[in-house]
Amino acid sequence: MLRVGLTGGIGAGKSTVANRLAEHGAVLIDADALARQVVEPGTEGLAEVVAAFGTGVLAADGSLDRQALAARAFADEESRRRLNGIVHPLVGARTAELMQRAPADAVLVHDIPLLVENGLAAHYHLVVVVDAAEDVRVRRLAESRGMTEQDARARIAAQADERQRRAAADVWLDNGGAPDIVLSAVDALWADRLVPFEANLRLHRPRAQRSPVITAYDESWPDQAARALARVRLAAGERAVRADHIGSTAVPGLPAKDVLDLQLTVPTLADADAIAESLGGAGFLREPGDWSDDPQDGDGPARWAKRLHTGADPGRPVNLHVRPADGPAWRLALLFRDWLRAEPAERDAYAGHKRRLAEAHAADGTVFGYAEDKQGWVNAAFQRAEDWATRTGWSPS
Ligand code: ADP
Repeated sequence: MLRVGLTGGIGAGKSTVANRLAEHGAVLIDADALARQVVEPGTEGLAEVVAAFGTGVLAADGSLDRQALAARAFADEESRRRLNGIVHPLVGARTAELMQRAPADAVLVHDIPLLVENGLAAHYHLVVVVDAAEDVRVRRLAESRGMTEQDARARIAAQADERQRRAAADVWLDNGGAPDIVLSAVDALWADRLVPFEANLRLHRPRAQRSPVITAYDESWPDQAARALARVRLAAGERAVRADHIGSTAVPGLPAKDVLDLQLTVPTLADADAIAESLGGAGFLREPGDWSDDPQDGDGPARWAKRLHTGADPGRPVNLHVRPADGPAWRLALLFRDWLRAEPAERDAYAGHKRRLAEAHAADGTVFGYAEDKQGWVNAAFQRAEDWATRTGWSPS
């Protein structure tokens, strides 16, 4: 099952996007709808709310009078917490139940307005944010829900801002234009990303091979890596010693293959094996076979053994290197990155070398020949990086 978190500010068009995804076949869970369902007449939830806030929160027909409840529950922090303490667990249980009931091959879309506010992004394989300019949203809320401008702006101000949403968004859907524009973006997202992502996960499909293509440094790589690392940490749990963005995409200004290299350091290789399935469930599939970072220094390959996982998202290629803390490779990856960050001349020399090799291997159809040829330069560079570490007193932060 692919878990997609769908969010955005009020009036941005979440429901519009959610409904289109449902038309394509997504299983929809609407957090707002569940929050209403768990306090419908006759529910345990409503009984608890009445026990906490009194019969004054009930309308004449026995249903919840939302305005009356708001006046009581949002009067102070303690009351707000009390209400959330009743509603949130009930919504959580119902959400879990619906998720369990969804078919194994489902693309599950969780429409959840407060995803960013509640820091939930890492729980989803992909976070989709719908956005429109504030003035546009205010106008739509007035037209569709009869909301006053003041009320609309107050609600918007109480939610996450655009910067926070951008940091969480794997996919940013601009819904500032006509509905057709966002709907065709949703159609493409469904066909090009969500459907193959789900199938990759379920069928454990390896990433398609291609020749090396070097692209210019992308300013958004660090944020993209941070989002993936949050998912990795969550899946690794207590076995994670540390998780870092490494490799060329972690060096500002360095052209690179558009593949994020991430490193998860775990105590031992046995720990790497113990969390392989959990990482796979989070979207990072274990690549079969033995992988090693042995730079042929005579140490024997065992110390350099690692596990390699690759991201199942066709829209964001990721290599996740799971390395044992009792081996030398994790430190070397961090040293190489920090040295390239600190030494622009070395970074540029590396860039030139990579470009030449990528040209030479442009028709290979895989990256293996390119990677093998690159290793000679890298192994020689390790010595210069070690000298730099000695000179500067570098150690892994
Ligand atoms: P949200 O669920 O994010 O609060 P909705 O999907 O309910 O937002 O959209 C708010 C209102 O704006 C709805 O009445 C919807 O029909 C309308 N709407 C959504 N997208 C557009 C659009 N691109 N152009 C005009 N109106 C839109």
